[in-house]
Amino acid sequence: MKQTYLITKLFTILLVSSFNTYSQTYNPYFGNIVNNTSATNILTDLTTFENFGVKEVGTTALANAENWITSRYTDLGYSDIELQPFTYSSGTSNNIVITKTGTTYPNTFLIIDGHYDTKNGPGTNDNGSGTVLIMELARLLLDIPTEYSIKFIHFSGEEDGLIGSNYYVNNTVIPENLDIKLVLNIDEVGGVNGMTNNTIVCERDQSNSPSTNNAASNIATNELANCIELYSNLSTEISYAYASDYMPFEDNGEIITGLYESNETPYAHGPNDILANMDPTYLFEVTKGTLGAALFFAQVDFNALQTESYNIDVTFSMYPNPVQENLNIYMDLKDQEYATFKLIDILGKQILHKTFKTSSNKLDVSNLNKGIYLAVFEVGNSKVTKKLVIN
Ligand SMILES: [Zn+2]
Repeated sequence: MKQTYLITKLFTILLVSSFNTYSQTYNPYFGNIVNNTSATNILTDLTTFENFGVKEVGTTALANAENWITSRYTDLGYSDIELQPFTYSSGTSNNIVITKTGTTYPNTFLIIDGHYDTKNGPGTNDNGSGTVLIMELARLLLDIPTEYSIKFIHFSGEEDGLIGSNYYVNNTVIPENLDIKLVLNIDEVGGVNGMTNNTIVCERDQSNSPSTNNAASNIATNELANCIELYSNLSTEISYAYASDYMPFEDNGEIITGLYESNETPYAHGPNDILANMDPTYLFEVTKGTLGAALFFAQVDFNALQTESYNIDVTFSMYPNPVQENLNIYMDLKDQEYATFKLIDILGKQILHKTFKTSSNKLDVSNLNKGIYLAVFEVGNSKVTKKLVIN
């Protein structure tokens, strides 16, 4: 949908390596799943998408694309597939919402979304690329248990002004009070034929309305960039989110991030937005990196990985540190107050969760693996994170 203003872009791009301090390391379990990404599937699906023609709301081409996407999920084995109809001046269209239920947090959702409507052309890059990427992720994640639930959402009406995503936020997210961990938006990631396509733009929330979700978006976007560099051969740039389906979520205070090609196609919204003008090998790499990120976001409490302390007025100490057996935990709890204490391992997995009602506590950690952990301590809205070494 969007076009970047080059000057602004140059000023806002920062190199990830300069501030990314939350690095995960390569996870071979994720890597094995990522290695099953199929370049052939991607190429075949892009061709199918292109052959439907110009997919504007109200056209048979869009209805055909909708049927194709829906039946793809059915054929894969997904059963929770919802069509959400909405009507406006261009006609009636459907958002396609597929839900995969999480094992630990079934009611908290990672949303991976992209629009499938196009404008003035077949839209093979904008946004056949995102459509095909999401379907390939869904294929590879089908039998992988994830702690969080995932919603794969194919929005319509994006090109007419984010109509479908606005409708979804107003008619599903808000009334159902949907608990969203993160929104990952994929729009125009196909690259440009003839150019060196080796970089992907990771988009973070820099909006002031509201700005309360920006810090978490920054963390998530750094994690996204990190995963892409771990699970693909691409480099990353950080820029700002704008003019795509994550914006209605942003307006509602959700944590968002997104992907957008670094070499921008000159063919968007025209008849030449076709496969011959894009770079399917680039899309293949973007898909691998995004899958690594999806596995990461769906498995771990990435917010707990940040080492900043939110509120220092909580008194909290633990000793000895390093610890071998018994960890003494002290906190200044008022009457009726209780605290939660979590240990997060280096891969971001929560391995221990306790509730404390007294100020002095003893915890036997001798059965835990040796290593570095993050101890996350919360009382009310206050949170302190400290490093703990078990040896
Ligand atoms: Zn688009």
